[in-house]
Amino acid sequence: MGPPASGKDTQAEILAERYGFNIMSFGEVLREEVEHGGENAKDAKEYMERGELVPSELLFEVVGQYIDRKGVPENIVFTGAARRAVEIPFIDKLLAQRGGKVDAVIYLTIPDEESVQRISGRWYSPTSDRTYHDIYKPPKVPGIDDATGEKLIKREDDKPEVVRERLRIFHQELEPVKEEFESRGIWYEVDGTPSISEIHNQIVRVLQLDKQARTAESQAK
Ligand code: AMP
Repeated sequence: MGPPASGKDTQAEILAERYGFNIMSFGEVLREEVEHGGENAKDAKEYMERGELVPSELLFEVVGQYIDRKGVPENIVFTGAARRAVEIPFIDKLLAQRGGKVDAVIYLTIPDEESVQRISGRWYSPTSDRTYHDIYKPPKVPGIDDATGEKLIKREDDKPEVVRERLRIFHQELEPVKEEFESRGIWYEVDGTPSISEIHNQIVRVLQLDKQARTAESQAK
């Protein structure tokens, strides 16, 4: 979790590449369902473009639809999930279907102004779902997706006035979510301002992923 442009998707991508996690981004699920042409997803699009949270019932419907098509994978890294406390039981139920639970919540901290500044340099590829940044994560060829060679675009909800609205709502909804995960003893705050690799190392330390990888290796021997 973290405010807009705190680096959630970037960190999730690295975790997926290095440790084989499956990413589930509610934002991506919504965008994918919009493209898929579902009637309720079209309603969701209007909220997304205004930078507002999609109403919970509508979100659950759209995520449910996506899961009916694609199923629930194992070892998920959620990004942008549980933006409201009411989403927590939904996520719990989703994971319980596979005998799982939320093991840890990583919250990336960055100042609001940093969010706004980072977003002004952000680019998105609708074909591969990858996110790039002019300074922090430039594509190999400016304006072009490394993976697909397609043109990069600006997301509607990445415009500065929309970002400020997203931040306002974000902070308002965060408190009860934080309280719930703190009470479960699984809330970890990680500084989102150093380099991408330093943040990744910190996440690996918090989740003790290296230790788990070593244990799995020695068990396999
Ligand atoms: P993101 O790609 O995570 O920045 O999300 C883009 C947009 O999708 C948000 O501005 C919201 O409108 C919507 N959205 C994403 N995740 C959620 C969520 N967990 N609850 C409600 N709306 C969401």
